Amino acid sequence: MRVRKPRRINEYLEGLADFLNSTAPGATEKQWDSFCRRIKKHPTVGSYFFRSCDRDESGRFINPERISLGEARNIRAEIHDDLAYLRTTEELNMPYGPLAASLTALRLPMLYQCNSLKGKPRPGQAILRSHGKRWVTKAQPIAENTREQLYGILATALIEGSLNRLQVCLWCGKYLAVKDRKRRFCPDTSCKDNYFNREKKESPNLTPRASRVHRK
Ligand SMILES: [Zn+2]
Repeated sequence: MRVRKPRRINEYLEGLADFLNSTAPGATEKQWDSFCRRIKKHPTVGSYFFRSCDRDESGRFINPERISLGEARNIRAEIHDDLAYLRTTEELNMPYGPLAASLTALRLPMLYQCNSLKGKPRPGQAILRSHGKRWVTKAQPIAENTREQLYGILATALIEGSLNRLQVCLWCGKYLAVKDRKRRFCPDTSCKDNYFNREKKESPNLTPRASRVHRK
């Protein structure tokens, strides 16, 4: 039997979730400091949070100037609003509408790349065939500041279909980057138990709707 490999957590969404949690209202300079230290070690995502993205030959940042907590909070507030669909159980007509509108308003130039396909295509990925090979196109926004870079992560996730891996914990409201899009609770915490205990207390005779949908 073929064993399916667990899906990899999208490291960009993971960095974005960490950013959104570390800059939530009430976040302290200490939390922001510790986020910056954590993310700086991350070779690919780290540069998203610093003004200077120059690196030396070994890939370390050269004199990174990080954005202030105040600036970070403003960016966070905008993104948080655009992700309101994550925090409602209502059926929305256009859940991704506000995010799409913000991305359109940013008018980011795109970087297009068309490379030969190595390995398996993603489900639904468009493939060109010529010159004895298969080709896939990638279009990525070109960003010049932290706000554009973070929205760029969201744009790519929206287009590639990985955006559902960004979720919010139903109990504590923290952002999560998950492998399984049905996961709705922080791992290794009491968030899931707290949530279902409250549901049980509030409606002891009913099977909570969320328990069928979100029990992960
Ligand atoms: Zn939680």
